[in-house]
Amino acid sequence: MTERYAVIGHPVAHSQSPDLHARFAQATGEDIEYGRIEAPLDAFERTVDEFRAGGGRGLNVTLPFKHAAFRYCDEVAERAREARVVNTLVFGERTRGDNTDGVGLVRDIEGNLTVTLGGKTVLLMGAGGAAQGVVGALLGARVGRLVVANRTFAKADALATRFKVTAARFDDVREPFDIVINATSAGLGTEPAVFPTAAIGKATLAYDMVYARDTAFLRMARDKGARCADGLGMLVEQAAESFFIWRGVRPQTRSVLASLRGG
Ligand code: NAP
Repeated sequence: MTERYAVIGHPVAHSQSPDLHARFAQATGEDIEYGRIEAPLDAFERTVDEFRAGGGRGLNVTLPFKHAAFRYCDEVAERAREARVVNTLVFGERTRGDNTDGVGLVRDIEGNLTVTLGGKTVLLMGAGGAAQGVVGALLGARVGRLVVANRTFAKADALATRFKVTAARFDDVREPFDIVINATSAGLGTEPAVFPTAAIGKATLAYDMVYARDTAFLRMARDKGARCADGLGMLVEQAAESFFIWRGVRPQTRSVLASLRGG
């Protein structure tokens, strides 16, 4: 029997998750249907309840509901407990939450981009749901030094304190890092994007979690001669991990990523 999954967010029309999961299902022969659910901003829980009641087996959760999803769960995987944000819900007798963003990022950087994280200096910009989801995985990959910087310093400080890493204001960053990860939505709205340009040198990997558009961060990094990467690989890898959690089958990601990039 076809089992139902979906991505829930607001907005969600732009989400590539339905396409990704359709590709994984076809490649693995899994009988699933995967849709999009735009939940009203004040009705995340009710919308999830309705999906479950209708037989839904699992959800991917995107902006702005990752914190609400964490609160919704009866139990959470260790990495989601650490992150305090959930992007994958599994419905059984109880609801289990997980977070696949961190493993998705690490697999993209190490597997697809073939950059080793071990021993590297890493600047993580942002302290929202995306940043919270990846700190544990970066530490698990044994980065040499991790600094969390955010426009609102108090949020960087709170996140860094939880994981016992360093917090910084953008203005405090004065030297190049091996890897700079943009986990902010800066430049996507109407407010100007202001980044610590000193963090980027010619040998830096500048990684933007945003995908499918050229961002102010990547333009700045390119101008400084850095190697640049967008977040499409992370998107594919985190989706593959969710698929594995739900179905117990790990889809191949390399060919999917290549085809999305038009290769
Ligand atoms: P969020 O919880 O809303 O957090 C937004 C972050 O961006 C905060 O740290 C915020 O700083 C910062 N920010 C917003 N506008 C800014 C500006 N003009 N200048 C500097 N900082 C600014 O969002 P999120 O869930 O963390 O997502 C962040 C981005 O990552 C989104 O674009 C999302 O699409 C992307 N993402 C990609 C993947 C993937 O698989 N590739 C996965 C997850 C997320 P303040 O605290 O100061 O407001």
